[in-house]
Amino acid sequence: MFAASLLLAATSVSAGAIGCSGHHIGTRNHGMGNPHYTRAYDPATLDVAAQCVPYNYEPVASIINDFPPNWAPATLVAGDDEAAALFQELNQTLASKVGNVSIKVGTMGDFSGYQYDNAADPDCWWTRSRCTQPKDQTIPADIRQLPEPNTWGFGYDDGPNCSHNALYNFMAENKQLATMFFIGSNVMNWPLQAKRAKDDGHEMCIHTWSHSAMTTLTNEQAFAELYYTRAAIKAVTGVTPKCWRPPYGDVDNRIRVIAGFLNLTNILWSDDTFDWQEGTQNVTAETIKNNYQKVFDKAKNGEYNTHGAIVLNHESNNRTMQHMIDQYAQIKQNFKYIVPIASGMNWTTPYVETNETYPDFNQYISGQLVGGPVSSGSGNSPGSTMTGSGAAAASSAAAPSGSAKPSSATRTTAAGILVFVGAAAAMLI
Ligand SMILES: [Zn+2]
Repeated sequence: MFAASLLLAATSVSAGAIGCSGHHIGTRNHGMGNPHYTRAYDPATLDVAAQCVPYNYEPVASIINDFPPNWAPATLVAGDDEAAALFQELNQTLASKVGNVSIKVGTMGDFSGYQYDNAADPDCWWTRSRCTQPKDQTIPADIRQLPEPNTWGFGYDDGPNCSHNALYNFMAENKQLATMFFIGSNVMNWPLQAKRAKDDGHEMCIHTWSHSAMTTLTNEQAFAELYYTRAAIKAVTGVTPKCWRPPYGDVDNRIRVIAGFLNLTNILWSDDTFDWQEGTQNVTAETIKNNYQKVFDKAKNGEYNTHGAIVLNHESNNRTMQHMIDQYAQIKQNFKYIVPIASGMNWTTPYVETNETYPDFNQYISGQLVGGPVSSGSGNSPGSTMTGSGAAAASSAAAPSGSAKPSSATRTTAAGILVFVGAAAAMLI
């Protein structure tokens, strides 16, 4: 009954209300007959409702059966032999790399009832200990700050949001790039929004397929969450990311090794605006403003004189996006630079496709928003010491069999049905 009332209550909520904490997760069901709408996707409109009218995008429609169902923990798709072979290779060596890491039990980042030795922290489980540096040095450490001082590492989780034009226009007007941690299910639902992000020059990273807490998933599910999100981003935007961020920050050594096999570098954060909390319990816009102020105060107090921050923002809904617009001038006052993670890390080749380049830090802060040519085919790249076949196979894995090349010229309009599942629990992140 509780779930049913939530469903009814949520059906009137715009699809923009997709929460990092799971308070409203927007789901589009692609299998419901696709009745046709007459409107075309308009990248210029600022009308929130109009932006969130579902549409059919042929390059995605043609490959939808090569992907797991949206918004459910991903598993290997039946008949996907390439993914199955890669997973098998990973799974055969996983235990020898991480030992016996238990699958955690919790919901949406809430593990309050789960027994774990927090002090010994054998799994370097961030959720309990904030561990980012595994004791086993063969497992790569997480990234949670930038090397460049007085710098705001700028990124958004949970997109692409269907109604993000106002924010993306704002960033374009300010010649500002960000790192986008996209949810695979959102990419498949809103491919033209994802494509705009890439076309605008923003950096593409992965935020899993279904926004599940990764340490609660089986090896196969965790692999599939990353693998199919990577494939979705490749199919829609043309690039294969090498970076990811776990929902709720929920990562342990088992998940790190699975991500490392796919050559994905884990990017956490140093500061959190908790922008998604507005509207949950007693959290007001004023609270979020104060959260931003706390980050500014750290900068004023010298915390970022020797390195830079990575700050958590969300593309979850129109409120979270508006907070950034409202705070942008203040951020500029308190931080010398606002940069996407790739530029902050000097990753000039952030994707598997090394012909796709990104401006390094000095180029970016001097106003160069596109990468230059990479001499002799090399460049700095997010790297994992655990690179496996999953990395080498990325390009082919990212183009599912029978997939069509995405092309904006082929878009048509149609719609699925919006269904919302949600829970009111306000969790971390
Ligand atoms: Zn998230």
